[in-house]
Amino acid sequence: MNNLRIGLGFDVHRLVPGRKCVLGGVELPHATGPLGHSDGDAVLHAVSDALLGAAGLDDIGTLFSDKDPRWKDADSRTLLSEVVKRVRATGFAIQNVDIVVATEGPRIAPHRAAMRAAIGNLLGIPDDRVNVKGKSLEGLGALAGGTGVAVQAVCLLQIGV
Ligand code: MG
Repeated sequence: MNNLRIGLGFDVHRLVPGRKCVLGGVELPHATGPLGHSDGDAVLHAVSDALLGAAGLDDIGTLFSDKDPRWKDADSRTLLSEVVKRVRATGFAIQNVDIVVATEGPRIAPHRAAMRAAIGNLLGIPDDRVNVKGKSLEGLGALAGGTGVAVQAVCLLQIGV
């Protein structure tokens, strides 16, 4: 078992008018989008932090600071690709990623397949090793009514494969 590592990532962004709704590397047709220094793709940010955490590396906020103008309006696919490169350099291979997207903004279900394909492509693993589930908030809490999106991601890394 000492060749396995589990990672956990979490991210939350406000959803505001006038922003592209990019989640999981896919642009969704929606009136609001995640506010952020980068494109605000909370799904890719949570996946990035899960991978970095499992590999024992820095977190996404340290690698791609929101104070750094280089990452202003950055495409989070570029950030995740850099994370994947760093994780691979440690000798770990990505086995799978599982993701929960909690929001009452855009509907996730119609875009699950596209997100799985986009994320699988970025991670270099087949779609069936990437899962994405949308979750309603039952009208509860600060993110109710579509004001934000919260994402949890877990991943499994294996060394020596
Ligand atoms: Mg973020």
